Amino acid sequence: MAAAGNDLTAEEWDAIHRAWGACAYCGETEGQLQRDCVLPITRGGRYTVTNVVPACRSCNASKGNNEVTAWLRRSRRDERAFLERWVQVVAELQSA
Ligand SMILES: [Zn+2]
Repeated sequence: MAAAGNDLTAEEWDAIHRAWGACAYCGETEGQLQRDCVLPITRGGRYTVTNVVPACRSCNASKGNNEVTAWLRRSRRDERAFLERWVQVVAELQSA
């Protein structure tokens, strides 16, 4: 993993975690939420405010390196709800 790909600070992660308050993909609030890159690292994504969301263990493991919208659809999660909330959260974080 390249060091340049890890530029998310602990404060930024806290803000992202607070803004969502749950798994970004399924709304799960139980258990430890993990940092998930919406655009996977293997597809050119990076650990940034605009690309990291909290994901429960189950979503994180299921999503893996899949393209997010195709995965949401295939796994019967709510693609539209995720995308709308994501745009909103990123806007909030960037104006903070
Ligand atoms: Zn989840």
